[in-house]
Amino acid sequence: MSEIPSSNQLIDRFGRKVTYLRVSVTDRCDFRCQYCMAEDMTFLPRAQILTLEEIHFICRAFVELGVVKIRITGGEPLVRNGVLGLLRQLGRIDGLNELVMTTNASKLGRMATDIRQAGVKRVNISLDSLSKEKFRKITRTGHLETVLQGIQAARQAGFERIKINAVILKNRNHDEVVDLVRFAVDNDIDISFIEEMPLGMIDSHDRGEMYYSSDSIKHDLSAHFTLLPLLDTTGGPSVYFRVQGCETRVGFISPHSANFCASCNRVRLTAEGRLLLCLGNEHSLDLKRVVRANPGDMAVLKHAIIEAMTIKPERHEFNINEQPVIMRHMNATGG
Ligand code: SAM
Ligand code: SF4
Repeated sequence: MSEIPSSNQLIDRFGRKVTYLRVSVTDRCDFRCQYCMAEDMTFLPRAQILTLEEIHFICRAFVELGVVKIRITGGEPLVRNGVLGLLRQLGRIDGLNELVMTTNASKLGRMATDIRQAGVKRVNISLDSLSKEKFRKITRTGHLETVLQGIQAARQAGFERIKINAVILKNRNHDEVVDLVRFAVDNDIDISFIEEMPLGMIDSHDRGEMYYSSDSIKHDLSAHFTLLPLLDTTGGPSVYFRVQGCETRVGFISPHSANFCASCNRVRLTAEGRLLLCLGNEHSLDLKRVVRANPGDMAVLKHAIIEAMTIKPERHEFNINEQPVIMRHMNATGG
């Protein structure tokens, strides 16, 4: 291996600084959302996924390299045994300013307080429908009531911010965007609408046919709410507005209609330990191999991570009307 680079920051070929790591702690999930997974999924064998200790070690390396924000996600992160212990350990890493999580909320009813006490500052919760039947159809196995209880538990647990994530599909839930914003306003939380991304083969619908753009959503909302543009961004793909008359923010994540790659500040660690440099490309580095070949060697791991920055692609090239070129599903990606 070449000499260890002196830079202690993660900067790619295009001058973008990586300060944000998303970590998928499992590819498994108790839901089977139609846009995320096929109904019949094969999950990774346990020996192939990173141990909690390995995840903690890799996260420490990233923080030492200037990462200030880590999002724990999956699959469904709360189905991973021992995840609370991991969160507590991550919450104690010096220099990590923001520990946040994305969850489907099915287990938040009983875990929200512990998660908050472990140091998780904010949570994103997936909620695509307020209709019991539609929710069931989209998630295939989920119960709306349990998720709504999870959201209330999160509100009581005192997170700094709670945000709903809703993937909107034409003729599936596009007629609910106004109700979903009203739900966010009533509960004093934020909401982001996400355009579906062509990740992995799915069997429920044609992604091109069901594409519903952020502009269409904005148009639907404009008859009911005044959305005031916000200048502050998270450095991420969301473009935010505030609903006039309240604190609720409405975000739009538009991988098709508004490319956001120029400001990309993030990389992803998959459950099997692959460092993904871009959501929409396969460029990656096998960090599990590095960690298992050099147990406890922080210098070697940091060197590998710094070198990986040289293969971070400039941008994604999603095309919703074509078969996916990215064969991994979102649950295996760390969305
Ligand atoms: N299970 C957790 C959840 O659903 O919040 C965390 C993992 S999930 C993969 C993270 C986010 O990715 C969710 O908000 C989900 O709606 C979104 N997602 C999954 N598949 C997607 C796709 N093909 N296109 C766009 N967003 C997707
Ligand atoms: Fe599970 Fe989240 Fe994927 Fe739905 S979107 S199947 S909850 S990982």
